[in-house]
Amino acid sequence: GDEITADMVDELSRRHFPMCMRHLHDTLKRDKHLKHFGRLQYGLFLKVLGLSIEEALAFWRRSFSGMTDDKFNKEYKYNIRHSYGLEGKRANYPAKSCQQILLSDQPGPQDSHGCPYRHFSLDNLQTALLSMYSSQGLTVSDLPEVVSTVKSGHYHVACTRVFEITHTAQGLKKGEGVDDGESVTHPNQYASRSRELEK
Ligand code: SF4
Repeated sequence: GDEITADMVDELSRRHFPMCMRHLHDTLKRDKHLKHFGRLQYGLFLKVLGLSIEEALAFWRRSFSGMTDDKFNKEYKYNIRHSYGLEGKRANYPAKSCQQILLSDQPGPQDSHGCPYRHFSLDNLQTALLSMYSSQGLTVSDLPEVVSTVKSGHYHVACTRVFEITHTAQGLKKGEGVDDGESVTHPNQYASRSRELEK
């Protein structure tokens, strides 16, 4: 996709990110840190969104604001470069799909990776939905439908419904999904479709 810069991430997160990435971004801002699987899930998503290695290093350095340059360079720089295929076996790691996020590396209570529709308690999920998306038109009256979809285990369908609700102003209707009635299958698909709809 288009290149994005470290400066753009915060605003993009508020307007275009699915809940999993919005939660990682907000946690990073709050804690000035993310644990390993969170860095991996969020970092690969940002890479595919268009953040170059230079901008990624700037973004993570700035986000870990409580840390010295020395510690950052020693403990984090290598892993960031590694995820861009610039270290080790130089693999071009793709960003994780919803399926991978839902099924692998289950988050513990201290973790912030994963899929909120699956891994949050229903109370936390509803509070977080309102706090993240009410500025984009999601209201309390939307919650029962989302919750019942989650209860039946259709997490990506719940995510798709939230996508539709929060893009009503761009003309999206119920059932239209991310593309031709399709459900969300990848966080990057969610974000890029959201950016497209804004144009
Ligand atoms: Fe993220 Fe996919 Fe879960 Fe949506 S369904 S929050 S894009 S993992």
